[in-house]
Amino acid sequence: MIVCKFGGSSVADDKQIRKVKAILDADKRRTIAVVSAPGRRSTGDDKITDLLYECNRLAQQNRSCRPVFEKISDRYLSIAKGLKLDEGRLIPALDEIRQGIDAGRGTDYAASRGEYLSGLIIAAYLGWEFVDPADYIVINSDGTVSPITYERLSVRFADGGRYVIPGFYGSTPEGVIKTFSRGGSDISGAIASRAAKAELYENWTDVSGIYAADPRIVKNARVISELTYKQVRELSDVGASVFHEEAIAPVIEAQIPINIRNTNEPDAPGTMIRAESSSRSLIGISGKGGFSRIKIRKLMMFRSPSEFFPFRH
Ligand code: ADP
Ligand code: ASP
Ligand code: MG
Repeated sequence: MIVCKFGGSSVADDKQIRKVKAILDADKRRTIAVVSAPGRRSTGDDKITDLLYECNRLAQQNRSCRPVFEKISDRYLSIAKGLKLDEGRLIPALDEIRQGIDAGRGTDYAASRGEYLSGLIIAAYLGWEFVDPADYIVINSDGTVSPITYERLSVRFADGGRYVIPGFYGSTPEGVIKTFSRGGSDISGAIASRAAKAELYENWTDVSGIYAADPRIVKNARVISELTYKQVRELSDVGASVFHEEAIAPVIEAQIPINIRNTNEPDAPGTMIRAESSSRSLIGISGKGGFSRIKIRKLMMFRSPSEFFPFRH
């Protein structure tokens, strides 16, 4: 089976979600969909996750989040309407979330609701089962994923049904909702892939693979057809934000290949990421602001590991 993760732009509106359904319908092996919160529909538009963080900020200042929350409600209601779902059924969930944010349930709760609502709507539209990651994915206080996650999720997926699972969050060992860092739905997709022993993890986004340079900066950059896990980790660690650097770890042990694909160009082969690659040449360039590495070379410097200091700020 194949796990498919759909990023923010792939679920930004009803038109995009119809593309998601067409992709899932095109291959019966695609039985688990991991979904992000709706992203930008065009330049200048809001990402739902950003609006949720803003709602939480207002609540922390004892101000009502209602005006910002209206934008969130409108977006989900229009998605549900566009998909011909009964949008009225969303209202209790939206009210509960707004009240929860106003009552100070905190940053992670607020931010996680974008994926939660996306998952509810997409599961209803596809007629697939909704799986709430808060009940399965355990995130430790240091951000690592507890091994119990894989035991629980593999039992949940064992009956071979079709599931929609929101990305980006799980809960602490105490059962409090906790998110990964920004872009963390890629990690959720990798976790679901490992738990379900997927033959492939497809990561559907808005570009046809990983480019040799950031396509927003280098207009004629080429898509790299094959990369190794290690190369992707290195590229994303220093700025190739297309795939979260922590999303490699869950799949590496099970050696599940990852395919980065474009929801808007589903026939493009995208980038395949595996343990080994046939290419040996220079693979790509990435960069990120506020990041420096200092390399110090000196004879006898590596007498003990504590004498090596990488810097990051
Ligand atoms: P999603 O919401 O689907 O997770 P992201 O916005 O997180 O999508 O990642 C996709 C974006 O990553 C692309 O639209 C592109 O602007 C950016 N990006 C940065 N570096 C690269 C790269 N080297 N190759 C491809 N995309 C890149
Ligand atoms: N919605 C979250 C974010 O904007 C997580 C994700 O999209 O992967 O960071
Ligand atoms: Mg992303």
